[in-house]
Amino acid sequence: MKAADFVYHRANSIEEAVGHLAEHEGAARILAGGQSLMPMLNMRLWRPSALIDINGLVELDRVQPSGDETVVGAMVRYVTLERSPLVAERLPLLARMVRFIGDRQVRNRGTLGGSLVQGDPTGEMPLGCLVLGARVRVAGPDGPREIPMTEFYSGPYAATLEAGELLTEVVFPRHPQHFAFREFCRRHNDFAVLSIAVTGDVSSDGGWRNIQLGLGGVNDTPLLVTGMTARLEGSRLTDADIAAAGEAVLGVIDPSSDIRASAEYRRHLAPIYVRRVLQDLRSSLQN
Ligand SMILES: Cc1cc2nc3c(=O)[nH]c(=O)nc-3n(C[C@H](O)[C@H](O)[C@H](O)COP(=O)(O)OP(=O)(O)OC[C@H]3O[C@@H](n4cnc5c(N)ncnc54)[C@H](O)[C@@H]3O)c2cc1C
Repeated sequence: MKAADFVYHRANSIEEAVGHLAEHEGAARILAGGQSLMPMLNMRLWRPSALIDINGLVELDRVQPSGDETVVGAMVRYVTLERSPLVAERLPLLARMVRFIGDRQVRNRGTLGGSLVQGDPTGEMPLGCLVLGARVRVAGPDGPREIPMTEFYSGPYAATLEAGELLTEVVFPRHPQHFAFREFCRRHNDFAVLSIAVTGDVSSDGGWRNIQLGLGGVNDTPLLVTGMTARLEGSRLTDADIAAAGEAVLGVIDPSSDIRASAEYRRHLAPIYVRRVLQDLRSSLQN
């Protein structure tokens, strides 16, 4: 099967893209890397009246340091996140996580903005941006606004963008000193059954500070385990701390069964992966 008819617009500016979205009154879609959009069109699961191609917008394809913050454009492709020395220096967690996405072809085309708007509950980029405390910048008919990643999803594949809004940039605060990431999938680089990312700083007295731990694949949306920050504040991440953290996570996850794994299997994996990733975090002190 092939896509149903649509009108094609190639936007020359952010304003033009937003103008086309308004023209089509919510029935158009933005074309970024096309890695999720094109299969949905070809299966006729989506039938937008128009595609608005933003691949020509070079202003959305930049990584810019801004003081402690780093601003990444919506059209920055996975391959850039994977290879850019600037991203490796400023956002090393993201640079590590992106290698787990799909295959080389997907990473050559897929974009940060597309991945966030697509909002796959197992997606690496939504989880990485959430754990890093990022904010999403959007442009729309009422001007620009920012949405914290903690408020960016209302459900699976459901970003809280208005129909006429374009995601333009993602703003990351200072990257924590330490991080770790693991994921479990059935085949190498398949969509994850479960993924888990953690960041933290260590203070001069040797205690861990501000640990942020997030999981993908265990809820409708990527989950930031907010209670973990207080639980592990000041801890040395002893084996006992880590074992208790693994058990605690069972109280906050609510996984579903799907083609990749049952809910029961995900519940089995979650404490194991929490323990492993916290052990990795502790070991990162020696690096
Ligand atoms: C074989 C295969 C394996 C994959 N494996 C993984 C995986 O392991 N992990 C993973 O996370 N993903 C995976 N994906 C999905 C991939 O990451 C997609 O690239 C991503 O979900 C969408 O990014 P895109 O740039 O291609 O967006 P598109 O497909 O172009 O767009 C996706 C959606 O976002 C909207 N959109 C895009 N950009 C914007 C914007 N700036 N503003 C507003 N709306 C926008 C589009 O209108 C569309 O609704 C895989 C895909 C394939 C085909």
